[in-house]
Amino acid sequence: MKFMKVLQENKQNQKEKNHNSFGMAVEKFVSSHPGEKVRTETLRASQLYFLCPRAFVLGYFGLQEREVDWLGRLRMSTGTFLHEYLQDRVLGPMGILFGNWKNKDEVREGFHPDSEKAIYEIVNQKPLSWKYEEYRSTDPKYKFSGHIDGKIDVDKLRWIDDNKLLFQTEPLKACKRLQEMTAGRMSILEIKTTSKASLDKIGKQGYPPDYYKQQAVIYQKMFDIDSTFFWYFERDNFDQTAFIYRHEEKWWNEAIRKAEYIWKCVREKKLPEAKKLCPSSKYNNCKYCKNTWTEKEFDDYISKSSNVD
Ligand code: SF4
Repeated sequence: MKFMKVLQENKQNQKEKNHNSFGMAVEKFVSSHPGEKVRTETLRASQLYFLCPRAFVLGYFGLQEREVDWLGRLRMSTGTFLHEYLQDRVLGPMGILFGNWKNKDEVREGFHPDSEKAIYEIVNQKPLSWKYEEYRSTDPKYKFSGHIDGKIDVDKLRWIDDNKLLFQTEPLKACKRLQEMTAGRMSILEIKTTSKASLDKIGKQGYPPDYYKQQAVIYQKMFDIDSTFFWYFERDNFDQTAFIYRHEEKWWNEAIRKAEYIWKCVREKKLPEAKKLCPSSKYNNCKYCKNTWTEKEFDDYISKSSNVD
């Protein structure tokens, strides 16, 4: 069937990225794992900017198999490790990361429950008693979904800025003061990794690219917080930059425009028009727009879906 053929095209077009036999063998091993069955029932905030309405609606009505992408998995695991490291071993014990802290018996919301113990465990290479749990949420109206890297206390960030000298001379004393402060205004934490060229550009301009602005404002609405603290790392040398990005309503309006159109198509069981709200002018007739489909073909396709009421 034409729809299924187009949906499977990606797999056939996958290019081999490794040119040495060992790299090729590893890639083949990982890629031979069975694909993960996924159903796309929400709009992930982190992907919305580049989301093609046609692709989403086709995915919504069909159970898709997510291919195992070796490089994608590597990148994602590296990012996950960096997030955990910064949350559990740096920002948490420092006393500025707010959220849910879990140990084997309980979950506590607030700043790190026992910074001293965490530092003892880190320096003695013992398993950590407290681990950070990221907040997850789904917006009931537009069905945006996602998770945030955490909440950062903006007043504590300002206090750090005002007390740079104390951090340079007596960092433990400075952190003790931070840990004793009560919670102030919060900002959403976004940790990102990027290339050197991109870090230099973002550091100079002091704001993120448009796709991260859109992701940030969706989370701001979902968590009712009006700013995002971006912390960028460069992948080779871990140079970094950080800044606060404040809410811009225009990115929220763009997001809901796309969401409303997609859910209307889903409700009415219509395939979105070719190129309508296309994520990029560079995508000229890519696979979901290349072919014209008849209404009958689309009806046949969704009639096999378990996502139809
Ligand atoms: S060209 Fe068509 S299929 Fe490709 S991204 Fe744009 S709308 Fe989607």
